Amino acid sequence: MAELTPMMQQYKEIKDKNPDCILFYRLGDFYEMFFDDAKLASKELELTLTGRDCGLEERAPMCGVPYHSCEGYIARLVAKGYKVAICEQLENPALAKGLVKRDIIRVITPGTVIESGMLDDTRNNYCAAICAGKGFAALAFADISTGEIRATTIPKGETAKILNELGRFAPREAIVCYDEKKYGEITAFLKERLNCLVSHSENMFEREAALGVLREQYGADYPERSGIAELVGCAETVGALISYLRETQRGNLPNLNEVGLFRQNQYMELDVNTRRNLEITETMRTGEKRGSLLGAMDYTRSAMGARTLRRWLEQPLCNVAAIQKRQNAVAELLASPMVRDDLIEAMKQVYDLERLMTKIVYGTANCRDLKALGATLAVVPQVRTLLAGCKCQYLAELAKQTDELADMRELIDNAIADDPPFSVREGGLIKNGYHAEIDELRAIQTDGKSYIASVEQRERDSTGIKNLKISYNKVFGYYIEVTKSYFDLVPPHYIRKQTLANCERYITEELKEYERKVLTAEERGIALEYEVFCAVRSTIAGNLHRVQQTAAVLSTVDVLCSFAVLAGKRGYCRPEVDFGDQIVIRDGRHPVVEAHMEDSVFVANDTLLDCGENRFCIITGPNMAGKSTYMRQVAIIALMAQVGSFVPASSAKIGISDKIFTRVGASDDLAAGQSTFMVEMSEVAYILKNATPRSLLIFDEIGRGTSTFDGMSIARAVVEYVADAKRLGAKTLFATHYHELTELEQELAGVKNYNIAVKKRGDDITFLRKIVRGGADDSYGIEVAKLAGVPDAVIDRAKEILGRMEQEGEARPRAAHADTPEEPAQLSMLDLGGNELVEELKLLDVNTLTPIECMQKLYELAKRAKEM
Ligand code: ADP
Ligand code: MG
Repeated sequence: MAELTPMMQQYKEIKDKNPDCILFYRLGDFYEMFFDDAKLASKELELTLTGRDCGLEERAPMCGVPYHSCEGYIARLVAKGYKVAICEQLENPALAKGLVKRDIIRVITPGTVIESGMLDDTRNNYCAAICAGKGFAALAFADISTGEIRATTIPKGETAKILNELGRFAPREAIVCYDEKKYGEITAFLKERLNCLVSHSENMFEREAALGVLREQYGADYPERSGIAELVGCAETVGALISYLRETQRGNLPNLNEVGLFRQNQYMELDVNTRRNLEITETMRTGEKRGSLLGAMDYTRSAMGARTLRRWLEQPLCNVAAIQKRQNAVAELLASPMVRDDLIEAMKQVYDLERLMTKIVYGTANCRDLKALGATLAVVPQVRTLLAGCKCQYLAELAKQTDELADMRELIDNAIADDPPFSVREGGLIKNGYHAEIDELRAIQTDGKSYIASVEQRERDSTGIKNLKISYNKVFGYYIEVTKSYFDLVPPHYIRKQTLANCERYITEELKEYERKVLTAEERGIALEYEVFCAVRSTIAGNLHRVQQTAAVLSTVDVLCSFAVLAGKRGYCRPEVDFGDQIVIRDGRHPVVEAHMEDSVFVANDTLLDCGENRFCIITGPNMAGKSTYMRQVAIIALMAQVGSFVPASSAKIGISDKIFTRVGASDDLAAGQSTFMVEMSEVAYILKNATPRSLLIFDEIGRGTSTFDGMSIARAVVEYVADAKRLGAKTLFATHYHELTELEQELAGVKNYNIAVKKRGDDITFLRKIVRGGADDSYGIEVAKLAGVPDAVIDRAKEILGRMEQEGEARPRAAHADTPEEPAQLSMLDLGGNELVEELKLLDVNTLTPIECMQKLYELAKRAKEM
């Protein structure tokens, strides 16, 4: 029977151990893929599929990529969510006896990339571990390209909270340990919403194993010292994450920080829909940073600053003191333009220290990377001095935390050549004067002649042979020539090699030694330079934590400066943040809409929300009036305030919100392609279940996804529930097309009507963009349609129909509701008159029913109506 060749057997053994990876098998100058991997990779990377004899009857499918350009190919596979295992030759093929030894040196996966070419500079790249069980959940996130690792536990293990944390970190990859039957929602969320690669693993989460990993990584007492051991599921989850990361790196993780544990109530809770609706870091439509809040706020100058700003926006604070600390710093930087500008100038020189250090500790950094580090360190003393001169506590603290790293900078300055080459294997790395032997080797190569001349002179002087000459030939190499008349002066250590007619030729140990040096100088020089470079690199690697500390200072300063620049450029004010329940905004603007307006002016608006008389604002007004913009602006201002930024307003008082919720109406939600009524209702359910009186709620249309009466009833029931201080009583902005709901101002405490003013003259309307008290008197649907360019014939016909319906009396709900297909059916049903449904409706006493009963009744009625 045919058998695999020895090499293919080796391939198969390694592949069998890594079945979920595409195996890059090193063969000479190529990485080859075989069998199914080859078929898959040839398709994904558009490579030619060939074949190779493998011992079996049929050739093995094969494709390959050159080793020196593999990074781009690997990046493409990883971006598509594959894992790539790199299998290297572990011995020199020229020297190996028999089959070359090979093994995996690294597994590259979406969440464990460290190559800067495969990473986005401006965002962290997280790998997550998730463990959930009876009444608890623990989550851990690590970015090994920067060394950050954080973990939290979720006390009751609520799925919704787990999803919110996942939404915050948006990991690219997750290893999970939970019952898929019970927590399948998490997996679906990871895969569908976050495009995250998910793998189950039970044994990595095993407690003893996990504790062992933690001890190995951080020291024997770590689990107890850090308190991790006591948090349910936490040690297991962090341990599992670290062991997975180690597996992919095939070794320890030199740059991993200690675990940052955080509590759930430390940050404002934002669910993934709210993040999306408020377009915090990316727009709904394109998913790009441009057009998002982050896009409008980002004046950072360094990649680290950009990442930090993103992180801050992803996790607004709930602690007033922590927020004020940031505000004080922003205020001082805003008030001291000279200091600010100097800091910004310095920030422009700041390279990505975190990721540079990762390359350095993993031994993949070249000289240019070290130079970049050196250039960054060069600005640190100035940054420290500037910070130290500041008055506020935070900036002074940052000054204290700044390690100037003078020794590191000196080392790089002294050791590494200016303008070094990209490659570290071809010499030219080390500065003259740093290492005696390298200097000597260079001297030998560059000024061999003068060296020989100097030896010649010295020998003449020491022997007294005035015409002593050193020459070179291929046979003896360097030799000394002495003429007959001086024979008696030849010292004993000269070794005679040749006698000619009137002279003798000698060699010396010294010349032989020199000759060997010359011949090997180049080779030796390159090797020695590499060795010295590696030593410098590992000295720097040994100072990882000092560099990381300075990196953290620089990133923070960059963000604080960015806030100050933003505030100055756009005329933002410092909000007064406290634990009270008021949100009072004077002349508030939407930071993103305003920033993108070119030739018109953004109209500022006021806001007053509290947990008392003004807790629930019902906002009406025609389409395009600015309702959505206004409500988002309030949420965004609250969020910006809790991040520590100044806000677009002339003054603002912001009571801390523990959570912000947004629910955006079906008609506005087409981008997600899931604007079904069911989704709308489950979002409403989620909000009602999770909101607290300290939350800020934004409802942008509810009940539009179903028939008018249905929708209106639900909307009304939601208002009653949310506005009721005994049930929820959270601060709420509620935009609706159902003008009927404005009646609630009379009936419910805390409800206030607002509308966005328009001016109507004849058939034309002008949007004033001003929010004013009171309900809108009309929805101006037809006028808006006209403004949008709907043909006159249609507009006229619409007016005709409207006129007729208004004459027919109350049959027309006052909502403008052209987009609900069920509506005609509803009207005709009522038109039938006298039928039993109408009778039943007449008898129904809505006031005696709970909202839920109302809903049930409505469903029943609707169902029966449809059957008719
Ligand atoms: P609605 O939700 O009432 O239909 P939007 O909030 O979507 O209206 O606003 C429609 C458009 O009006 C926005 O795209 C924006 O360009 C503009 N707009 C909204 N509010 C303002 C404002 N305060 N000042 C200037 N333009 C505004
Ligand atoms: Mg809207």
